[in-house]
Amino acid sequence: MSLTKIIKILIVIMLFPVVANAETDKEFVVMIDPGHGGKDAGALGRRTNEKTVNLAVAKKLQKLINSKMKDAKAEMTRDGDYFVTLKERPNIAKRKKADIFVSIHANSIDKKSPMHSTINGAAVYTLGLKKSDTNLSVAMRENAVMKLESDYSTTYEGFDPSSAESYIAFEMMQHSNMDQSIDLAEAVQNELVRTAGRKNNGVRQAPFWVLVGTSMPAILVELDYICNPRMEKFMASEAGQEKLARAIYNGIERFRKNSSSRSSSSSSSKVIPTTEDVRETEVEVAGKAAKSESATPKSQVNAGGVVYKIQFLTSPTVLKKKDSHLKGLSPVDYYKDGKTYKYTYGEYSSMSEANAGLKKVKKLFGDAFVIKTRDGKRVK
Ligand SMILES: [Zn+2]
Repeated sequence: MSLTKIIKILIVIMLFPVVANAETDKEFVVMIDPGHGGKDAGALGRRTNEKTVNLAVAKKLQKLINSKMKDAKAEMTRDGDYFVTLKERPNIAKRKKADIFVSIHANSIDKKSPMHSTINGAAVYTLGLKKSDTNLSVAMRENAVMKLESDYSTTYEGFDPSSAESYIAFEMMQHSNMDQSIDLAEAVQNELVRTAGRKNNGVRQAPFWVLVGTSMPAILVELDYICNPRMEKFMASEAGQEKLARAIYNGIERFRKNSSSRSSSSSSSKVIPTTEDVRETEVEVAGKAAKSESATPKSQVNAGGVVYKIQFLTSPTVLKKKDSHLKGLSPVDYYKDGKTYKYTYGEYSSMSEANAGLKKVKKLFGDAFVIKTRDGKRVK
């Protein structure tokens, strides 16, 4: 297999993300992607299969959006029981100028596992870089469908969905819409718990091929485990499907609300930060910095050349760019402080901009905080 080719493709995807449509009068387009179909049944339950559940929930979701969601419409990558390749699905989304991509799946684990008929819970995935065996096995199962395409080794440039080695290239990936994808994933995951009563297996990241080609915020929903007969019964029932569709609908609504309030507040972010913003961050910085740094006179703080950065990690050694501790965050920078290396993300000219960036970084690194720097060195 040619790893270089995969890397080349991924780099092209990274360099040329389709810029999100900024027209405000445009309808919000939700691309619903019911996983599997046709010769690919997906995971098997005892009485039904994944492709059937996925399509049923997707159709109910489409109906909800088209009848109830304001200024929005839903499109489907498939609306019947037929086969669509993993590569074609994001292409359909691009052609329809979709604003978000929601792939719907049902989970399953190996028959030999003692948890096979008891495991349960929903999880929402974004395209991911985090190295985790459990998440990788879910992605491997979902990606395996490409083997049903007769020319899959050409189409996917030698990528082998069942070889862990093939996934190395994914480590380099940075989805151009990662922050928004995580926001969407969190909103939908919350509703799967609240509205559909699913056990919360959290928002996760994994290398799903179907998300690779997407150029808009994109998530993959694992509704619940079809290998668990009780969960299967729920997912096969009219009432269960209704709840699941409603949950995803509510999550999308919440995401839209959050992002519209985000964009209206970011348009005013050039304004001087509120005292509250500043105070909050300063306290955090002071708390973390006190141990290791000599104080710089306060009079220098607002002088020229100040750059705000988000500090998210300390390490005793310099990390490789692809180190899993960085959780895919890129590009990153670091400065040396005593014997430790402190990793930072972003460069902002104002505290308010840095605070906006901080929200995103905090999703990956909960205790990240904003620092002030001058000439690459931290100042207080
Ligand atoms: Zn699936």
